[in-house]
Amino acid sequence: MTSIGFIGLGNMGGPMALNLVKAGHPVKVFDLVESAMTVLIEAGAKRAASPREACEDIEVLVSMLPAGQHVRRLYLGDKEDGEGGLLAALDSSVLVIDASTIAPDDVRLVAGHAAERGIDFMDAPVSGGVGGARAGTLSFIVGGDADAYARALPLLEVMGKNLFHAGPAGSGQVAKICNNMLLGILMSGTAEALALGVKNGLDPAVLSEVMKQSSGGNWALNVYNPWPGVMEAAPASNDYQGGFLVDLMAKDLGLAWEMALGSKSAVPMGAQARNLFVQHAAQGAGRLDFSSIQRFYRVGEADV
Ligand code: NAD
Repeated sequence: MTSIGFIGLGNMGGPMALNLVKAGHPVKVFDLVESAMTVLIEAGAKRAASPREACEDIEVLVSMLPAGQHVRRLYLGDKEDGEGGLLAALDSSVLVIDASTIAPDDVRLVAGHAAERGIDFMDAPVSGGVGGARAGTLSFIVGGDADAYARALPLLEVMGKNLFHAGPAGSGQVAKICNNMLLGILMSGTAEALALGVKNGLDPAVLSEVMKQSSGGNWALNVYNPWPGVMEAAPASNDYQGGFLVDLMAKDLGLAWEMALGSKSAVPMGAQARNLFVQHAAQGAGRLDFSSIQRFYRVGEADV
């Protein structure tokens, strides 16, 4: 068994940590929100009073935080100089796995400070949503040293199913951000095509089936149809509750945009998708599932 510290127990981190506890690993947990720890404590995890306490006498530290600024502040401290953060308190033998989705440059900054202290720091962003976190079937896209990846594998296998080593630190984020940019484009394109067909007299279920079996077939049509009622288990059929928030998709498309600026890449489709999701969020949809972009194309309809 591996002694683990786990920081950040939100929609994703909570069930991920729970799977580690259920697998029999001793886990110390910390979250800024006290109530986020309750389920874990009841399941047998140990409550830590601070991030530093969660790191005492552990072999592996996992973090799952909202965005880059939280990761930088946690590991490097308020001044982001590495002195006031967790890295300064960690034993060099501890393997650090940050599963948050953040900018590759933020990973490289933190991983650089970690390397100076002899600490292995890996980015391991995930795909698969809250359902995948609960079921332990997440995809992990890992950036970091090959030896560190080998050390992390047994724990990643508890929380996930498809595991990829993308390259050195930061590579996991690059791959994840490219994937989510494509997902944002695919979902908005699918919603656009469905709205066009329905406004021209087609049944959304019939049109979905046609496109699924034709050259427009894609993941959204296969498992995540954005039109309410077409796919019973999809968030669209549950008032767009649960799933992957519009705010998070807008964040990931923003990361793609920053990455494109930094590498002088043209991403006209990704930029368009970002504008769509940001505008959709600004209209109050931020906490809905991202397939609610369908509503964006149905403005003016009485029952939407
Ligand atoms: P969340 O907002 O539900 O959870 C984040 C948790 O981190 C909260 O409980 C918060 O209190 C805690 N936190 C923040 N700063 C902290 C600190 N300094 N110390 C301790 N705890 C702190 O977010 P989430 O949905 O769990 O997402 C986490 C990450 O996973 C994000 O980067 C997101 O982009 C990514 N992600 C989310 C999904 C999804 O479907 N929700 C899917 C894939 C990836």
